[in-house]
Amino acid sequence: MTPEIHLHVLASGSKGNAAVIEGPEGNILVDCGISRRELMRRATEVGVDMDRVHAVLVTHEHSDHVSGLSVFCNHYDGPLYATAGTVAGRSYLAEMPFTLVDHSQDLELCGMHVRCFPTSHDVNDPMGFRFETGGDALGWCTDTGYVTDEAMEALYGCRILGLESNHDERMLASGPYPAFLKTRIRGEAGHLSNDQTASILPFLVTSDTETVVALHLSQENNRPSVCMRTIAPAVCAEAANDGFTEARTSDGLLSLCVAAQDRPLTIW
Ligand SMILES: [Zn+2]
Ligand SMILES: [Zn+2]
Repeated sequence: MTPEIHLHVLASGSKGNAAVIEGPEGNILVDCGISRRELMRRATEVGVDMDRVHAVLVTHEHSDHVSGLSVFCNHYDGPLYATAGTVAGRSYLAEMPFTLVDHSQDLELCGMHVRCFPTSHDVNDPMGFRFETGGDALGWCTDTGYVTDEAMEALYGCRILGLESNHDERMLASGPYPAFLKTRIRGEAGHLSNDQTASILPFLVTSDTETVVALHLSQENNRPSVCMRTIAPAVCAEAANDGFTEARTSDGLLSLCVAAQDRPLTIW
Protein backbone atom coordinates (compact mmCIF):
# COMPACT_ATOMS: atom_id res chain seq x y z
CA MET A 1 0.00 0.00 0.00
CA THR A 2 1.38 3.39 -1.01
CA PRO A 3 1.02 6.04 1.69
CA GLU A 4 -1.36 8.69 0.41
CA ILE A 5 -2.09 10.50 3.66
CA HIS A 6 0.53 12.36 5.67
CA LEU A 7 0.30 13.91 9.11
CA HIS A 8 1.78 17.16 10.35
CA VAL A 9 1.14 17.84 14.03
CA LEU A 10 1.92 21.54 14.41
CA ALA A 11 1.01 21.75 18.12
CA SER A 12 -0.42 19.30 20.63
CA GLY A 13 -1.23 19.93 24.29
CA SER A 14 -3.27 22.12 26.59
CA LYS A 15 -1.57 25.30 25.37
CA GLY A 16 -2.78 24.82 21.79
CA ASN A 17 -3.56 22.24 19.13
CA ALA A 18 -3.34 22.20 15.35
CA ALA A 19 -2.65 19.47 12.82
CA VAL A 20 -2.62 19.26 9.05
CA ILE A 21 -3.79 16.09 7.32
CA GLU A 22 -2.24 16.04 3.87
CA GLY A 23 -4.37 14.17 1.34
CA PRO A 24 -4.12 13.51 -2.38
CA GLU A 25 -6.14 16.60 -3.31
CA GLY A 26 -5.30 19.07 -0.60
CA ASN A 27 -4.79 19.61 3.10
CA ILE A 28 -7.23 19.58 5.99
CA LEU A 29 -6.52 21.66 9.08
CA VAL A 30 -7.77 19.95 12.23
CA ASP A 31 -8.23 22.52 15.02
CA CYS A 32 -6.55 25.90 15.27
CA GLY A 33 -5.58 26.61 18.85
CA ILE A 34 -2.36 28.53 18.17
CA SER A 35 -1.80 31.94 16.62
CA ARG A 36 -1.83 32.20 12.84
CA ARG A 37 1.72 33.46 12.92
CA GLU A 38 2.94 30.43 14.86
CA LEU A 39 0.82 28.11 12.70
CA MET A 40 2.38 29.48 9.51
CA ARG A 41 5.88 29.42 11.01
CA ARG A 42 5.60 25.76 11.99
CA ALA A 43 3.95 24.80 8.70
CA THR A 44 6.89 26.34 6.84
CA GLU A 45 9.29 24.51 9.13
CA VAL A 46 7.86 21.12 8.12
CA GLY A 47 7.21 22.13 4.50
CA VAL A 48 3.41 22.21 4.57
CA ASP A 49 1.71 24.45 2.04
CA MET A 50 -1.09 26.21 3.95
CA ASP A 51 -2.45 27.55 0.65
CA ARG A 52 -3.46 23.95 -0.02
CA VAL A 53 -5.71 23.89 3.08
CA HIS A 54 -9.12 23.32 1.52
CA ALA A 55 -11.07 22.36 4.65
CA VAL A 56 -10.98 22.98 8.40
CA LEU A 57 -12.37 20.51 10.93
CA VAL A 58 -12.89 21.40 14.58
CA THR A 59 -12.94 18.66 17.23
CA HIS A 60 -14.53 20.79 19.99
CA GLU A 61 -14.83 24.31 21.35
CA HIS A 62 -12.15 24.39 24.06
CA SER A 63 -9.93 27.38 23.43
CA ASP A 64 -6.77 25.27 23.06
CA HIS A 65 -8.43 23.99 19.84
CA VAL A 66 -10.08 27.14 18.44
CA SER A 67 -8.37 30.27 19.80
CA GLY A 68 -6.51 30.95 16.53
CA LEU A 69 -9.41 30.20 14.22
CA SER A 70 -10.88 33.69 13.69
CA VAL A 71 -7.56 35.20 12.66
CA PHE A 72 -6.78 32.18 10.49
CA CYS A 73 -10.13 32.69 8.75
CA ASN A 74 -9.25 36.28 7.87
CA HIS A 75 -6.94 34.68 5.31
CA TYR A 76 -9.00 31.59 4.46
CA ASP A 77 -12.36 31.32 2.74
CA GLY A 78 -12.81 27.56 2.39
CA PRO A 79 -15.31 25.42 4.28
CA LEU A 80 -15.30 24.98 8.07
CA TYR A 81 -16.84 21.91 9.67
CA ALA A 82 -17.94 21.27 13.25
CA THR A 83 -20.95 19.91 15.11
CA ALA A 84 -23.82 22.24 15.99
CA GLY A 85 -22.88 21.82 19.65
CA THR A 86 -19.29 22.92 19.05
CA VAL A 87 -20.37 25.98 17.05
CA ALA A 88 -22.88 26.94 19.75
CA GLY A 89 -20.19 26.57 22.39
CA ARG A 90 -18.43 29.87 21.61
CA SER A 91 -20.14 33.03 20.41
CA TYR A 92 -17.34 33.83 17.95
CA LEU A 93 -17.69 30.38 16.38
CA ALA A 94 -21.42 30.94 15.96
CA GLU A 95 -20.62 34.01 13.86
CA MET A 96 -18.42 32.05 11.47
CA PRO A 97 -19.76 30.32 8.31
CA PHE A 98 -19.60 26.75 9.60
CA THR A 99 -21.06 23.78 7.78
CA LEU A 100 -22.64 21.73 10.54
CA VAL A 101 -21.85 18.04 10.67
CA ASP A 102 -23.19 15.25 12.74
CA HIS A 103 -20.69 13.11 14.59
CA SER A 104 -21.94 10.06 12.76
CA GLN A 105 -21.49 11.70 9.36
CA ASP A 106 -19.09 10.97 6.52
CA LEU A 107 -17.49 13.71 4.41
CA GLU A 108 -15.50 13.71 1.18
CA LEU A 109 -12.65 16.21 1.53
CA CYS A 110 -9.35 16.70 -0.29
CA GLY A 111 -9.55 13.30 -1.94
CA MET A 112 -10.22 11.56 1.38
CA HIS A 113 -13.23 9.91 2.91
CA VAL A 114 -13.62 11.41 6.38
CA ARG A 115 -15.60 9.55 9.00
CA CYS A 116 -16.61 11.53 12.09
CA PHE A 117 -17.18 9.82 15.42
CA PRO A 118 -18.14 11.00 18.91
CA THR A 119 -15.58 11.46 21.66
CA SER A 120 -16.36 11.90 25.37
CA HIS A 121 -15.32 15.30 26.73
CA ASP A 122 -16.81 18.05 28.89
CA VAL A 123 -18.09 20.08 25.94
CA ASN A 124 -21.26 20.10 23.81
CA ASP A 125 -20.68 17.56 21.06
CA PRO A 126 -17.02 16.68 20.41
CA MET A 127 -15.69 14.43 17.68
CA GLY A 128 -12.70 12.63 16.23
CA PHE A 129 -11.97 11.51 12.67
CA ARG A 130 -10.82 8.71 10.42
CA PHE A 131 -9.32 9.85 7.11
CA GLU A 132 -9.15 7.23 4.39
CA THR A 133 -8.20 6.91 0.74
CA GLY A 134 -6.93 4.15 -1.54
CA GLY A 135 -6.31 1.73 1.32
CA ASP A 136 -4.42 4.28 3.42
CA ALA A 137 -5.98 5.47 6.69
CA LEU A 138 -5.21 7.91 9.49
CA GLY A 139 -7.08 8.07 12.81
CA TRP A 140 -7.33 11.16 15.02
CA CYS A 141 -8.70 11.02 18.54
CA THR A 142 -7.87 13.49 21.29
CA ASP A 143 -9.56 15.12 24.29
CA THR A 144 -11.67 12.19 25.37
CA GLY A 145 -12.26 10.62 28.78
CA TYR A 146 -12.66 7.21 27.21
CA VAL A 147 -12.65 5.87 23.67
CA THR A 148 -16.24 5.40 22.55
CA ASP A 149 -17.35 2.25 20.72
CA GLU A 150 -17.69 4.28 17.50
CA ALA A 151 -14.15 5.59 17.96
CA MET A 152 -12.76 2.09 18.57
CA GLU A 153 -14.31 0.96 15.32
CA ALA A 154 -13.17 4.01 13.34
CA LEU A 155 -9.59 3.93 14.67
CA TYR A 156 -9.05 0.25 13.95
CA GLY A 157 -6.18 -0.65 11.65
CA CYS A 158 -5.11 2.87 10.64
CA ARG A 159 -1.62 3.18 9.15
CA ILE A 160 -1.09 6.33 11.23
CA LEU A 161 -2.87 6.54 14.57
CA GLY A 162 -2.95 9.81 16.52
CA LEU A 163 -4.31 9.01 19.95
CA GLU A 164 -4.42 11.06 23.14
CA SER A 165 -2.17 9.98 26.00
CA ASN A 166 -2.69 12.93 28.30
CA HIS A 167 -1.48 12.05 31.75
CA ASP A 168 0.22 9.57 34.00
CA GLU A 169 -2.32 8.57 36.63
CA ARG A 170 0.24 8.60 39.48
CA MET A 171 1.67 11.98 38.47
CA LEU A 172 -1.84 13.42 38.28
CA ALA A 173 -2.76 11.98 41.70
CA SER A 174 0.35 13.35 43.43
CA GLY A 175 0.65 16.53 41.34
CA PRO A 176 -0.25 20.15 42.10
CA TYR A 177 -3.69 20.33 40.48
CA PRO A 178 -6.68 21.10 42.72
CA ALA A 179 -8.97 18.16 43.48
CA PHE A 180 -11.77 19.33 41.19
CA LEU A 181 -9.40 19.52 38.24
CA LYS A 182 -7.96 16.08 38.97
CA THR A 183 -11.50 14.70 39.07
CA ARG A 184 -12.33 16.42 35.79
CA ILE A 185 -9.24 15.15 33.97
CA ARG A 186 -9.64 11.54 35.06
CA GLY A 187 -13.42 11.56 34.53
CA GLU A 188 -15.35 9.98 31.67
CA ALA A 189 -15.51 13.40 29.98
CA GLY A 190 -11.89 14.32 30.66
CA HIS A 191 -8.67 13.10 29.07
CA LEU A 192 -7.15 9.69 28.31
CA SER A 193 -4.37 8.56 30.60
CA ASN A 194 -1.27 6.69 29.46
CA ASP A 195 -2.70 3.53 31.06
CA GLN A 196 -6.01 3.89 29.21
CA THR A 197 -4.22 4.41 25.92
CA ALA A 198 -2.00 1.40 26.60
CA SER A 199 -5.03 -0.73 27.36
CA ILE A 200 -6.75 -0.01 24.03
CA LEU A 201 -3.74 0.09 21.69
CA PRO A 202 -3.62 -3.71 21.22
CA PHE A 203 -7.21 -3.56 19.95
CA LEU A 204 -6.48 -0.78 17.44
CA VAL A 205 -3.04 -1.63 16.10
CA THR A 206 -2.93 -4.15 13.23
CA SER A 207 -0.29 -5.22 10.72
CA ASP A 208 -1.34 -2.15 8.70
CA THR A 209 -0.32 0.19 11.53
CA GLU A 210 3.06 1.84 11.03
CA THR A 211 3.03 4.77 13.44
CA VAL A 212 1.29 5.62 16.69
CA VAL A 213 1.53 9.26 17.73
CA ALA A 214 0.67 10.02 21.35
CA LEU A 215 -1.23 13.32 21.52
CA HIS A 216 -2.06 16.08 24.01
CA LEU A 217 0.52 15.15 26.66
CA SER A 218 0.09 17.14 29.87
CA GLN A 219 3.11 19.26 30.75
CA GLU A 220 2.42 18.92 34.48
CA ASN A 221 1.18 15.34 34.70
CA ASN A 222 3.14 13.50 32.05
CA ARG A 223 6.53 13.20 30.37
CA PRO A 224 7.26 11.83 26.90
CA SER A 225 9.39 9.04 28.42
CA VAL A 226 6.76 8.20 31.06
CA CYS A 227 4.11 8.00 28.35
CA MET A 228 6.29 5.84 26.12
CA ARG A 229 7.30 3.47 28.94
CA THR A 230 3.60 2.91 29.58
CA ILE A 231 2.22 2.55 26.06
CA ALA A 232 5.09 0.86 24.17
CA PRO A 233 4.95 -2.49 26.03
CA ALA A 234 1.24 -2.77 25.16
CA VAL A 235 2.24 -3.35 21.52
CA CYS A 236 5.55 -5.14 22.29
CA ALA A 237 7.64 -2.13 21.27
CA GLU A 238 10.96 -1.23 22.87
CA ALA A 239 12.95 1.96 23.31
CA ALA A 240 14.19 3.36 20.00
CA ASN A 241 16.31 6.14 21.50
CA ASP A 242 18.23 6.93 24.68
CA GLY A 243 15.52 8.95 26.36
CA PHE A 244 12.81 6.38 25.51
CA THR A 245 10.70 9.07 23.87
CA GLU A 246 10.36 6.83 20.80
CA ALA A 247 9.74 3.12 20.54
CA ARG A 248 9.78 0.46 17.85
CA THR A 249 8.88 -3.19 17.52
CA SER A 250 11.77 -5.61 16.94
CA ASP A 251 10.68 -6.23 13.35
CA GLY A 252 10.83 -2.45 12.78
CA LEU A 253 7.32 -2.34 11.34
CA LEU A 254 5.64 -0.28 14.08
CA SER A 255 6.95 2.96 15.59
CA LEU A 256 5.60 5.04 18.45
CA CYS A 257 6.36 8.69 19.12
CA VAL A 258 4.94 11.66 21.00
CA ALA A 259 3.63 14.94 19.62
CA ALA A 260 4.96 18.06 21.34
CA GLN A 261 3.44 21.34 22.40
CA ASP A 262 6.13 23.50 20.87
CA ARG A 263 7.70 21.48 18.08
CA PRO A 264 6.06 20.29 14.85
CA LEU A 265 6.15 16.65 13.85
CA THR A 266 5.65 15.08 10.43
CA ILE A 267 4.71 11.46 9.79
CA TRP A 268 4.93 10.27 6.21
ZN1 LIG B 1 -7.39 20.12 24.40
ZN1 LIG C 1 -10.62 19.84 25.37
